[in-house]
Amino acid sequence: MWVHLKTLGCRLNEAELETWAMAFQQAGHGITRTPENADLIIVNSCAVTQDAARKSRRLIRRIHRTNPAAKLVVSGCYATLDKEEAENLMGVDLVIGNQDKNRLVAKTLAELNIDTMPSMSTEPGAVSLFSRGRQRAFIKVQDGCRYRCTFCIVTVARGAERSRPLQELVDEINKLHGQGIHEAIITGVHLGGYGSDIDSNLTELIETLLAQTAIPRLRLGSLEPWDLPQDFFGLFNNPRLLPHLHLPLQSGSDSVLRRMARRCKTDEFAALVKQLRAKIPHFNITTDIIVGFPGETEQEWQDSFDFIQKTGFGHIHIFSYSPRQGTHAATLPGQVAEHIKKQRSQQLHQLTESMRRAFFEDNLDCEFDVLWESQTEKTANGKQLIFGYTPNYLRVACETSDPGTLENRITPAKLIANAGHYILAGLR
Ligand code: SF4
Repeated sequence: MWVHLKTLGCRLNEAELETWAMAFQQAGHGITRTPENADLIIVNSCAVTQDAARKSRRLIRRIHRTNPAAKLVVSGCYATLDKEEAENLMGVDLVIGNQDKNRLVAKTLAELNIDTMPSMSTEPGAVSLFSRGRQRAFIKVQDGCRYRCTFCIVTVARGAERSRPLQELVDEINKLHGQGIHEAIITGVHLGGYGSDIDSNLTELIETLLAQTAIPRLRLGSLEPWDLPQDFFGLFNNPRLLPHLHLPLQSGSDSVLRRMARRCKTDEFAALVKQLRAKIPHFNITTDIIVGFPGETEQEWQDSFDFIQKTGFGHIHIFSYSPRQGTHAATLPGQVAEHIKKQRSQQLHQLTESMRRAFFEDNLDCEFDVLWESQTEKTANGKQLIFGYTPNYLRVACETSDPGTLENRITPAKLIANAGHYILAGLR
């Protein structure tokens, strides 16, 4: 899908456009400079003056006239302050208020039901999986992948596995920690393959980072659910390695997994999950699922859905299959009709939402160390909410009159109530 992004107004609006463009690209979409070629247009509006609001309206109308077939999403200050008017403007499919701006890409893809395949299966992690901020940094430890999952273009695009030397990674994390970063997210195209080319492995990497750095939090990025070294699970005994793993399952049907050439069957996946949950309470397991893979029958879809439901996930990134040139899957027979993909995707979105709520509920009344970030929001009673993440990657917020004293600090907080997209927490 091609996305065109347009902004009016301040520098902040410009910066947001950059972030969204990056997130769309990471989710496998292209950015186009011309609205005529776009399938989706995002307008970041402004309302600093009456004139700015008028210009925003004019821009939205003009852009819709230029390409009436494209889906149109409007965000920014004008869309927030005059939501109803913006919603009623000709051609507008979705309005996303400023409070949801940091989730604009995910929300757009989900609500307009245009989730498509990521170009690099394991890499969307970097942007869409974890929120960015000054509190956490992404450390890419390896590139390339030795496998050939049939939907994935990585092997073609990224070549053989290459790992960065341990010492270089230790130095990088120590430097970032010295600059005030509290959380490092360890990522790779095939993270489980770390060290295959330098006589090392993922366990050695994490042990070394835990021993030779003092950064308070290490989190693992997307990790294929195989090739995990024997002693890997023991690493989570150290609370600095955070109890959250994103293990892309892709399908809960073994026959679909075979066609995808995945190296993990459902019973192996279930065993992994069981082991992790037995070891660490409240361990959060999130995943990716592709719906409508070529040849996916109703029965396979049902099996997949049942397995996903039985397993339970804190969150699922859902992708509707779209053929990617150069991959084997694009040549497979039995491409699934769009309306069926859409149906399956909607069904899975609903399940994801109920599983997320259930996971929230499971964690209520617990106390966790929260890393508070810079994002804040005004409450109705004039206070501020400051947002942060628990070790198991739950988004929490607490009321404070002075967010500055919490920002970029790790403090214990008790999870009090489910507030929809986050959990309300109280400081001790
Ligand atoms: S394991 Fe499969 S999906 Fe993951 S990067 Fe390698 S080929 Fe792609």
